[in-house]
Amino acid sequence: MINILFAAKPANWASYEAPLRRALDATGLDYALTTDGSDPASIDYLIYAPSGPISDFTPFTNAKAVLGLWAGVEGITGNKTLTIPLTRMVDHGLTEGMVEWVVGHTLRHHLGMDQHILGQDGEWRDFVPPLARDRTVAVLGLGALGSACATALAALNFNVIGWSRREKALDGVTCHFGDDGLDKTLSQAEILILLLPLTAGTKNLLNAQRLSQMPRGAAIINPGRGPLIDDDALLSALETGQISHATLDVFRVEPLPADHPYWAHPSVTVTPHIASETRPDTASQVIAENIRRNEAGEPLLHVVDRSEGY
Ligand code: NAP
Repeated sequence: MINILFAAKPANWASYEAPLRRALDATGLDYALTTDGSDPASIDYLIYAPSGPISDFTPFTNAKAVLGLWAGVEGITGNKTLTIPLTRMVDHGLTEGMVEWVVGHTLRHHLGMDQHILGQDGEWRDFVPPLARDRTVAVLGLGALGSACATALAALNFNVIGWSRREKALDGVTCHFGDDGLDKTLSQAEILILLLPLTAGTKNLLNAQRLSQMPRGAAIINPGRGPLIDDDALLSALETGQISHATLDVFRVEPLPADHPYWAHPSVTVTPHIASETRPDTASQVIAENIRRNEAGEPLLHVVDRSEGY
């Protein structure tokens, strides 16, 4: 019998229990799925979310892996009590949601939709946007989410540039890496999308100097993590017009405090960390497949490299 502990927020159990059971049943494994962690030594796998009840993994002496429900893992990579493999969520439902959100917000800026949506004042604005092929969109981070967004934007004919830590090739996307690659990417980014994880190497990546490298009037879309951006530097760049608009889904403190200057800023759009969510049906299949693989002696999928922080 394989004992699996659901250790995400108790409120999530109602939406995950049935999809997890369906996915685990399909593996043919003999398992017990529980929310009861009172006998930690009996647990083989933990289904984990940073918002859940567990932060000390020491009592789980026989656990084989911690299977994360979230794509972002910055809240757990430094946890010294976690010594067994940790996987993160790569789920096609989550990816599809992110592609839709990113494409929607990119098109808003590209087409200048606000001029018509917010400007219903009797003025006939005959602004004609350029074609996508004449607009450069840059995606920082070409992992599961960034590469899917870059590919979708390239399919709409945008001139897409991407940047990652290691060298990468993606059809239809000009890929850069390293410091030189970041300079090249930023200098052309009319619309910049941040899909980097939060690590020591990415914190405050978008600082005053890097914002100044971007074309004047560029727009920023951040569904990655709040601390990727130096907030004061962004507010200054918005004041001078160096950056025309920032659409921000993630923040240093969440929920974003009611008195934060982003809320009232005319050139900032705040969305409440909803760019994309893990979807119970598709995510449950990923969790079940990882348990099946581990039990069969096959390598786990989406293992976090804790030394790199993602
Ligand atoms: P991923 O597959 O791990 O991809 C991360 C990408 O970032 C990789 O291309 C990686 O480069 C690159 N990278 C990491 N450190 C770097 C550095 N120092 N310099 C340059 N590039 C670096 O992650 P993912 O699944 O695409 O998710 C990305 C992030 O999205 C998550 O970490 C999370 O913070 C955020 N997220 C947000 C939401 C939301 O609703 N707002 C939902 C899900 C996820 P290599 O390819 O070279 O490794």
